[in-house]
Amino acid sequence: MARVAPFDRFSALALTEGERVFVLTGAGISAESGIRTFRDGNGLWEEHRVEDVASPEGWQRDPVLVWRFYAERRAQAATCPPNAAHAALAKAEANLGDRLFLCTQNVDPLHERAGSRRVLHMHGELFRSRCENEDAPDFADEGTYFGAEAIPRCACGGRVRPHIVWFGEMPMGLAAIAEALDRCNVFVTIGSSGVVYPAAGFVRQVRQRGGVRTIYVGPEAPENAGAFDECRLGPASQVVPALFGF
Ligand code: NAD
Repeated sequence: MARVAPFDRFSALALTEGERVFVLTGAGISAESGIRTFRDGNGLWEEHRVEDVASPEGWQRDPVLVWRFYAERRAQAATCPPNAAHAALAKAEANLGDRLFLCTQNVDPLHERAGSRRVLHMHGELFRSRCENEDAPDFADEGTYFGAEAIPRCACGGRVRPHIVWFGEMPMGLAAIAEALDRCNVFVTIGSSGVVYPAAGFVRQVRQRGGVRTIYVGPEAPENAGAFDECRLGPASQVVPALFGF
């Protein structure tokens, strides 16, 4: 049974020499930077049905709508600064080095903008693109494509699509994630509702191994709260610095 309480009732993590921390972040860590979460929209993502803008079927049906959606997300993210939670994780990485593993479900670049150097974007990155057909390398892309004529083509003739992992597609970096989950002593989730799998299942995976402290950070307990030892309630910008004792 999780201990659920306001974050200031808990003390900072006291890591002993060699202990490793796995941090999973979700849309909630970027909410205070001005990027809306899924949950804000009652099942709609920025007024769109998720199936229309974040699925392979949606892309086949209407690539113009899909690119318009991600072009708007790119334009919006470019104006949103990282907040104190992103900054605290960058500082924790500077202190802990590779004893901190940062895995994000977010596609925004706010961890990197705050100074984190090693970020695993399991659902892809907003400012990268790739070919819809080929298994060719993805590439940095800040383009905002509006209209069918504007959608770039790969050398193979396929359309260029957002790098994003859509619903029904395989998340990225699962082997590295599995290895880090196996090695961690502390597992922390920040700002994730606990409904999108496989990420929502990571906490149960580490619990099965035993001996791992599991902590959730956010304003409300998530769907998978029962799998955490502690739910530290509050906004990420306050809870994350306090968690690391900054
Ligand atoms: P979600 O939208 O399902 O849930 C957001 C969670 O954040 C909620 O549990 C909410 O309580 C919490 N939250 C709200 N404000 C917070 C704050 N100030 N501090 C901490 N937590 C706060 O998000 P999810 O679980 O990450 O799943 C959504 C999926 O949507 C992900 O796969 C992600 O790729 C995608 N997405 C990404 C972004 C982004 O890149 N910023 C934004 C929206 C959705």
